[in-house]
Amino acid sequence: MSKACQNYSASLRQAQADRRYLHIELIGFSPNGLIRVIRAIRAIRVLYLHSKINRKMKVMKFGGTSVGKPQRMKEVAKLITADEDRKIVVLSALSGTTNALVEISNLIAAGDRSEAKQKIWELEATYYQFVDDLLNDELLIAEAKKILAEHFEFLTIILKISFSEALNKDILAQGELLSTKLFCIYLEEQQIPHKLLPALDFMTLDNQDEPQIGTIKVKLSQLLTKHKDTPIFITQGYITKNAKGEVDNLKRGGSDFSASLIAAAINADVCEIWTDIDGMHNNDPRVVKTTRPIEQLSFEEAAELAYFGAKILHPASIWPAQFYNVPVKLLNTMEPSAKGTLITEQAGSTGVKAVAAKDNITAIKIKSSRMLLAYGFLRKVFEVFEKYKTSIDMITTSEVAVSVTIDNDIFLNEITRELEAYGTVEIDTNQSIVSIVGNEITETKEVMRKLFDAIHDVPVRMVSYGGSRHNISLLIPRSFKDQTLNALNTGLFGLE
Ligand code: ASP
Ligand code: MG
Repeated sequence: MSKACQNYSASLRQAQADRRYLHIELIGFSPNGLIRVIRAIRAIRVLYLHSKINRKMKVMKFGGTSVGKPQRMKEVAKLITADEDRKIVVLSALSGTTNALVEISNLIAAGDRSEAKQKIWELEATYYQFVDDLLNDELLIAEAKKILAEHFEFLTIILKISFSEALNKDILAQGELLSTKLFCIYLEEQQIPHKLLPALDFMTLDNQDEPQIGTIKVKLSQLLTKHKDTPIFITQGYITKNAKGEVDNLKRGGSDFSASLIAAAINADVCEIWTDIDGMHNNDPRVVKTTRPIEQLSFEEAAELAYFGAKILHPASIWPAQFYNVPVKLLNTMEPSAKGTLITEQAGSTGVKAVAAKDNITAIKIKSSRMLLAYGFLRKVFEVFEKYKTSIDMITTSEVAVSVTIDNDIFLNEITRELEAYGTVEIDTNQSIVSIVGNEITETKEVMRKLFDAIHDVPVRMVSYGGSRHNISLLIPRSFKDQTLNALNTGLFGLE
């Protein structure tokens, strides 16, 4: 069955599922139910129509550095027109912009308006220069400068309003709003047919700040059906509406997450994440000299790597693609023909594929002789972390002690105080988790021996083995991280 047919039948299955839901609704008839029935009929119709016109479609996401210079933005225009596929292009803010906006917002929050004003001016100047370098057509230059004037005027007006969290989100949204608008003007100059799809028209969060994939699906389908002859859509990564209807965002680095959500929502053939490196590498290139790109990873392996330190992909961006089974490709704008990394359901091969490290880890050991032969001890310990919404990454136990690690120590004092009710508490800060990731590695012979041979002179504080078949994690002092990653590069991959 062709991919288009598969898309079609998947959408149809979805529509059938919705229809079953509709049937149940009709049985439990009520005025509220009627409204929901009408909405469901409309949603089914949209999904059905969309499945009919849904030809090959992909998502292409470009990060800050890929659009950060006029020349790079021009390359992006070439990449998105290199094939005939219908596509949604997701852009980040120009590199440096979100950082600058965070700084401006912090200054406003601290009441330092004159410094904030200065920063706004500096940022504004870089954008005027950007437009002059990007465009040739006088009319389009004027149009782009009008857009800059509007957005920077907005920032200047904000200086006069009292600060709030909602205002902070509005400030942070300016980067993606600007990058997409400027890119669309460049496409216009190049006479490349396209349409700007404002993310704020279809991206939504529920009241737990989780993306509402069902709603995103219906809204996007409506928009794509409405513009059925448009080949290229441009939209903003990162920004969204929240449950209160305000502008919000998917947290720093969140445009990968946007791309994956969009790809899942439209049942895309592929979600391409374009950055400035040729895929995920087997080790951290900032620490070791020789690394190589990984050809293929399973979603599980990619999730472990993204979570445990590989900066190339936002960890949250794995689940939507995995859940809706959309392959993800990590590609390089500087070297578009490089293979990059393909992430699918299949792992491709077995054995160790990569190591990654995550810093700023705090280890907490709770030692109690009362734990001996007692049940319910771990529950009490976990409840303390739950109370302070602090998630645990690694855990090891002995008969009289349990050690856990956290990467967020905002509530460390409160947590320590409460844990002291159960035993002696020891804290080690400034640790790193080094994760060894691969397919079935716990069943691959020799991995453990090679691993411990390689790091025989590193003081390992914790080891986690067997939690999943694709991960072995070590906790070490941060000061030993570089040595460990280099030793593993030689010991596990034979690279110097
Ligand atoms: N511009 C946002 C950031 O810098 C989102 C992103 O680039 O993914 O965090
Ligand atoms: Mg990014």
